[in-house]
Amino acid sequence: MRRNRFRSIVDSVSGDQSLIIVSNREPYAHKKVGSKVKVEKPAGGLTSAMDEALKSIGGTWVAWGSGSEDRNHVGEKDRVQVPPKKPLYTLKRVWLSPDEVNNYYHGYSNHVLWPLCHMALDRVYFRKKYWEDYKRANRSFARAILEETGESSTVWIHDYHLCLVPEMLRSGTEKLSIAHFWHIPWPNFSVLRICPQSREILEALLHNDLIGFQIPLFIHNFMECVHESIEDADIDYESETVSYRGHTTKLKAFPISVDFERFHDLASSEKSTNAISKLMKRHSLPERKIGIGVDRLEYTKGLIKRFQALDLFFERHPEYMGKFTFIQIAVPTRMKEPYISYKATVEGLVRKINKKYSQEGWNPIIYRDTKSEHEDLAVYYRMGDLAIISSIYDGMNLVAKEFIASQVDEKGVLILSEFAGAAEELEGAMLVNPYDIEDFSDSIKRALDMTAEEKSCRIRTLRRQVRERDIYRWISDFIKDIGILKSKQAVKAKYLLNHLSDIPKEDLFLFLDYDGTLTPIVDSPERAIIDEDTLMLIRKLQGIMPVAIVTGRSLNNIMDIIKIGNLVYAGNHGAEIWDGNKLVIDQQIADSREMLNIMIAQLKATLSPIQGLIIEDKGITASIHFRMVSPHDICRVHDVFWAIAERHKEMFTITSGKKVFEIRPHGMWNKGDAVKWIWGNIGENRLPLYIGDDLTDEDAFKAIRGKGIGVSVEKSEEADYYMKTQDEVKAFLNWVLGNP
Ligand code: UDP
Repeated sequence: MRRNRFRSIVDSVSGDQSLIIVSNREPYAHKKVGSKVKVEKPAGGLTSAMDEALKSIGGTWVAWGSGSEDRNHVGEKDRVQVPPKKPLYTLKRVWLSPDEVNNYYHGYSNHVLWPLCHMALDRVYFRKKYWEDYKRANRSFARAILEETGESSTVWIHDYHLCLVPEMLRSGTEKLSIAHFWHIPWPNFSVLRICPQSREILEALLHNDLIGFQIPLFIHNFMECVHESIEDADIDYESETVSYRGHTTKLKAFPISVDFERFHDLASSEKSTNAISKLMKRHSLPERKIGIGVDRLEYTKGLIKRFQALDLFFERHPEYMGKFTFIQIAVPTRMKEPYISYKATVEGLVRKINKKYSQEGWNPIIYRDTKSEHEDLAVYYRMGDLAIISSIYDGMNLVAKEFIASQVDEKGVLILSEFAGAAEELEGAMLVNPYDIEDFSDSIKRALDMTAEEKSCRIRTLRRQVRERDIYRWISDFIKDIGILKSKQAVKAKYLLNHLSDIPKEDLFLFLDYDGTLTPIVDSPERAIIDEDTLMLIRKLQGIMPVAIVTGRSLNNIMDIIKIGNLVYAGNHGAEIWDGNKLVIDQQIADSREMLNIMIAQLKATLSPIQGLIIEDKGITASIHFRMVSPHDICRVHDVFWAIAERHKEMFTITSGKKVFEIRPHGMWNKGDAVKWIWGNIGENRLPLYIGDDLTDEDAFKAIRGKGIGVSVEKSEEADYYMKTQDEVKAFLNWVLGNP
């Protein structure tokens, strides 16, 4: 089943373009247990999903061989085929000395970069030997990777342990595609500057083709750090790219997720139902509400704040004593300082609270400090009437998403720190500032008192989001983006202004995109106004050759802006065309227009009372904007919208963006279809020349490939020529007119 989800990956990473995953942790470790050697798989969601991906598409995983028996289970070049019972890909192990493990892993990674990126500044502890061994270990990784790469390999590096690897790989070969996913937060410059090696780290990372971050905030922080540290780096804030010493790095947010189906299935299984009954009985829970916390015993998870909030909650609401139990699973991690002290403080606090409030047969907190498998966690997550995530800073927080996926009875409330990446991404959680203990403890009360209707509405909304954007989609999206960058690099397009003699200007049919081609891209579409000079150029051009404007804007909108008669216009990405005399609409769209009217009427009837909601009817598509809706109503918006959308899914493709739903008819004409129709019906004897800047213009480039000329503003793998700016587009149009 899951293999199907990787079809898109197989499409983008095929043949000799082998994929190499690189991480500190390995997906399979050989360890001695008693007198036997066992193969252990780490429980982390990420490693198991990446393992699934490589099992489907093949490739190599390079990681530190940390298992006690690992060295005895590798062949040539330290490779071992995995999974051991049914080999499908190669695991290549990197060996680190005990000193390197101490200084590179425990030292620089966990005593410097981890607290720094989580803004826990007093925990940053720096030693020169950490940095020296960090460099040495990164070099070992880079050497191992280079032994595995071919000309067109794609290397996907994970996390903060391996910052220097991209630069080390680049000096080995220029041609590799290198991408990095940064799993933890990226801090702003006032924090990063504390690190003595901040510049070296930024420079090394800028050898990547793509750096993925969890949320847009971390991209902004990264760009700020580059701006402040590297004077000669060129940052394009709009396209989120950084060019430095001849190399361009694209920055993009990819919020990581979990295997929704797996947690859903685990939580709904009969085994889980039985386990819940047993647990309830053992802790006399049936008559009590249950709160859940699942964390590594890690200072960034805000466990102290959480227990202080629980303490205040019971102090203020003694009526909940005996009626609400909080179950905390806290797994010891990196058992060295400062973790040993943190564990002692947390456990001391739990003991104090239990002593203060416990009654016969009831403790406010049930505390477990052993690691649980996902099978067990799904049971706890399902039982929870609420879960608390109180991170003081967190890249994403997977526990939040696992809780959501396991809430099969749709009754639990997610209390989520606004400083976890998940809070940026998810709608429906109850957000808290864990430092504001009073509000935090009030939130626990509000969650417990919430009506069943609101609870189920909130969790349903959350479940939809996690189901739609699960870990498989995350992997596919990331790899697809590497593929897109890779093909851009392979572009053979020529710089048009140096090859004007290739263009026969007398016989052209000119197709022009609007935003980004005739006007610069700006924040809001209303501000993208075409200047008078360009309008004048178009008027003159239209006098000597056919000209079509092709845009994503609605037909009405673009005709209103340009206001030149006799032009051809294609709006809504080509789905509606004004051919100079009459309106032409793709027949299927004409049918769906009626259905869209019905859908919009239903949405208006149910959603219009909600303040701040905007239903934008774009003729044949629609957008529902809810950025200005109050958080109390968001959940109702989701619930009502999806109930109506479900009824129309045969006809429409529905996507959700940041605070907006987009509705488009299936199979709608794209810009390529429009160009083909216009050219075929209006000027087939002429040579089509299309100028565009956007991904959607690539359909048009493809449609005229070999028959016409595609020109992109910025390089595109589908175009024949490129220009660099809108001013160059103007210069070109002037040249066509014969102006100097
Ligand atoms: N986890 C686990 N067993 C436990 C406690 C936690 O397998 O007893 C897993 C949990 O399911 C989740 C991960 O550890 O997948 C924690 O991820 P998260 O993003 O919440 O925090 P991190 O520990 O990565 O900072």
